[in-house]
Amino acid sequence: MLIRAAKPRPVIIAARKAARAAGAMTYAGNPCHAGHDGTRYTATRQCVACAKAARLAQTEREKAERGAK
Ligand SMILES: [Zn+2]
Repeated sequence: MLIRAAKPRPVIIAARKAARAAGAMTYAGNPCHAGHDGTRYTATRQCVACAKAARLAQTEREKAERGAK
């Protein structure tokens, strides 16, 4: 399994419009429903921490499916 190192985060810009104009991938938005700190993707407004948790959960589901073959 290939594990990629996390890329260094660019400077966080608070306003989504400004972040978008600057080409930043993330911005500092409102804290999410799950209580994360509010770092969100500029493109989708999705919480970065929630997105990561969802990715990991999906990977676990796929592993379980492969294992259940
Ligand atoms: Zn979240």
